[in-house]
Amino acid sequence: MARYVYDLDEPTDGGRELLGGKGIGLAEMTQLGVPVPAGFTITTDACRAYMELGDFPEGLGEEVDEHLSRLEETAGKRFGDPEDPLLVSVRSGAAISMPGMMDTILNVGLNDEAASGGERFVLDSYRRLIQMYGETVDRIDAHFFSDALDEEDLPATIDSFKRIYQDQTGRPFPQDAKEQLGRAVRAVFESWNTPRAQRYRRHNDIPDDLGTAVNVVQMVFGNKGERSGTGVAFTRDPSTGEQGLYGEFLADAQGEDVVAGIRTPEPLERMKERLPEAYQEFLDTMRRLEEHYRDMQDIEFTVEDGKLFLLQTRSAKRTAAAALKAAVDMVDEGLISREEAVARIDPGQLDQLLHPRIDPDAAYDVAAKGLNASPGAASGAVVFDADTAELRGKEGEAVILVRWETTPDDIHGMIAAQGILTAHGGMTSHAAVVARGMGKPCVAGCEALSLDLDAKTMSLNGTTLKEGETLTIDGGTGEVIAGEVTLIPPDINEDFETVLGWADELRRLKVRTNADTPEDAAKAREFGAEGIGLCRTEHMFMADDRLPVVREMIMASNEDERRSALDRLLPHQQSDFEGIFEAMAGLPVTIRLLDPPLHEFLPPPEEATDARMRARIRALHESNPMLGTRGCRLGLMFPEIYEMQVRAIIRAAIAVRDRTGDPPLVEIMHPLVGFEEELRRLRELTIETADEEGDVEYLVGTMIELPRACIRADEIAEHADFFSFGTNDLTQTALGFSRDDAEGKFLTHYLQDGVLERNPFETLDQSGVGDLMAIAVERGRSTKPDIKLGICGEHGGEPSSVAFCHTLGLDYVSCSPYRVPLARLAAAQAALAEAGVEAVAVGG
Ligand code: ADP
Ligand code: MG
Ligand code: MG
Repeated sequence: MARYVYDLDEPTDGGRELLGGKGIGLAEMTQLGVPVPAGFTITTDACRAYMELGDFPEGLGEEVDEHLSRLEETAGKRFGDPEDPLLVSVRSGAAISMPGMMDTILNVGLNDEAASGGERFVLDSYRRLIQMYGETVDRIDAHFFSDALDEEDLPATIDSFKRIYQDQTGRPFPQDAKEQLGRAVRAVFESWNTPRAQRYRRHNDIPDDLGTAVNVVQMVFGNKGERSGTGVAFTRDPSTGEQGLYGEFLADAQGEDVVAGIRTPEPLERMKERLPEAYQEFLDTMRRLEEHYRDMQDIEFTVEDGKLFLLQTRSAKRTAAAALKAAVDMVDEGLISREEAVARIDPGQLDQLLHPRIDPDAAYDVAAKGLNASPGAASGAVVFDADTAELRGKEGEAVILVRWETTPDDIHGMIAAQGILTAHGGMTSHAAVVARGMGKPCVAGCEALSLDLDAKTMSLNGTTLKEGETLTIDGGTGEVIAGEVTLIPPDINEDFETVLGWADELRRLKVRTNADTPEDAAKAREFGAEGIGLCRTEHMFMADDRLPVVREMIMASNEDERRSALDRLLPHQQSDFEGIFEAMAGLPVTIRLLDPPLHEFLPPPEEATDARMRARIRALHESNPMLGTRGCRLGLMFPEIYEMQVRAIIRAAIAVRDRTGDPPLVEIMHPLVGFEEELRRLRELTIETADEEGDVEYLVGTMIELPRACIRADEIAEHADFFSFGTNDLTQTALGFSRDDAEGKFLTHYLQDGVLERNPFETLDQSGVGDLMAIAVERGRSTKPDIKLGICGEHGGEPSSVAFCHTLGLDYVSCSPYRVPLARLAAAQAALAEAGVEAVAVGG
């Protein structure tokens, strides 16, 4: 018979998947002997069964009753007792943490009889129960309660809360403790599927079928007066990774007050003054937890009458900078190995470190200061609600979401915004926690900020801004500036270099970059690129001083005219290549010959300068340019174009070799090959032309970006020294999706509707496109065992796709310069995973 409930002191094999993150943390702390109130956990299995049946599975009710009786024994109190009853919290907690996304109800088990004439904290607890229960179980709008709250007159507040409950539901507030418990458990199960929880999961790639566990925990009371309180703390600073406790404390309060940002909490120092013994025990416990988990912890605690209780522990969410610093420090402290340090950094999160900062030389006036809740700077149009943020953000506008305080319902706006500013709440408020996780700049608790939501204006110490006006925030300093300020990219610090240095020792995949200019090439080398995997030549055709010549070439009525235009383009191309070869100093450079259809270089028909041009534009018109005269097809129809490019490449290589002594490793790449014969002819053309220019080493290869090329890779390999998977076009052609006609249209619908889980243009479609790649690898190698293999599509910088490329046995991945560090780390994690060290990203 299935078992659905475990006491906190009962060991299980199910782990986090079964008990949820909160449940496993409570169980482990209990078993370690850390002070935790007693309780039990209803498993995620029960939640999944509930979701399937729409009701409690058989036996669950009885099991809960059994564990409740045991809890009554331990507590020495009875649930539902009219005097001094056992009270519990009913808490959500999935395997993967989704902070604030699901529901928790405190003080379950209290009713009129038990509360009447009780101490202040009992009345306070009762009004909280009616409020939380009303909001989560019966979905009563929160404002009804917050509007009616009067902390000075709790009996009156309870009366009005009960009236609100009755008005909104048509029933009196339930007095039966078991009924409260049953409905609270259901509500927590159901909170798994609220739209905001679904949105959060989609944004964070969390599967929809995990379900949440429910933790039923004996209440401890932080709202019992001055010797009580509640707080949250980190074992290290989650913004910087600096060692030392970091947290906030609120005297005479229950837990939710801290997170909700209702009262602005005080630093932990105050707890030390007020409750020195509990504080000392708290310090010792934090140290033990960090040693046990060998990672930075984020904990929730409550002190009741001077006695400490821990209510939650988890690996702390942290900024990328903090993740790196903590990892490096923990290696120094002997807490973890280098491999573990590398496995622990979320590659996607490194992006944060590449976020802009305010130019230190910029002059600007600070209108106000708030808490520096999440680093990075951002400028954008002020918006006051999440829907507007999403709307304007989708149109490509940079927006700053300005709120009194954010709630989980604002998630979609936070995703769309460049930065977040709030008037209220601390470093652990919703806005701060979520922004850090997303790697977005956030200034929280900016007290000088006042909002007039009807007029859609905000004011900061007398400066007023209307919706749509520009605001700049610096989440690293907490500064808020009216207007725009120059931002600059950040530099990479020592911890970053250290961890990536370790990663480099562990990875097998090489990491190259996609770069079309010497500047990009130089930037990418700073980030650790080991070559260029894709240098596209069409941009060189687009520059102002070249486009007229390119047009002349396209307009030419015969080969001679075309050749004369190409002769004039050649020196430009050559000098571009020289710049790139020099920047890469002897590292391999893959140059792709001209790929786009020629009409891309001509103006739209209405801008044609004469009738002849208009006719040519019409003649070149294609109804499906993606599948038209482009890539090697162009090279075969107009061989003189590729000939010119090959000449320019070889001349540049010779010039750079002679000038610097560093011969570049040139790889000439032919795009869009589908047939062996295409590449056979183009290879011949390449070699003949190169031979005329002189003696340098180079390779000739092809992009693999058509399904046919994958299938016939054995034949194509006869003529190729290397393959580079062009997974952008390969995805388009394998899926039959034109990217331009998919994104924002049916693909967006597919993703929203769950037809597809991921955007295949961002995350490689491993089972479809990936299988074609596997075929190409196998067949290509069957002809040429040591053929060089790489990937140059955008997937080359996406961590899970990098891991897939590792598994396929490619030689390198190539990605945009800013993604190079991320690819280095992802490649190391792939190698570690192969060796059995799983990546456990604990960051955002
Ligand atoms: P969340 O996942 O939103 O943090 P929690 O289940 O952790 O929700 O609970 C919300 C708040 O209530 C937290 O501050 C927590 O510490 C507090 N809390 C939960 N259970 C208890 C309890 N048994 N006694 C006292 N406070 C509790
Ligand atoms: Mg919590
Ligand atoms: Mg392509």
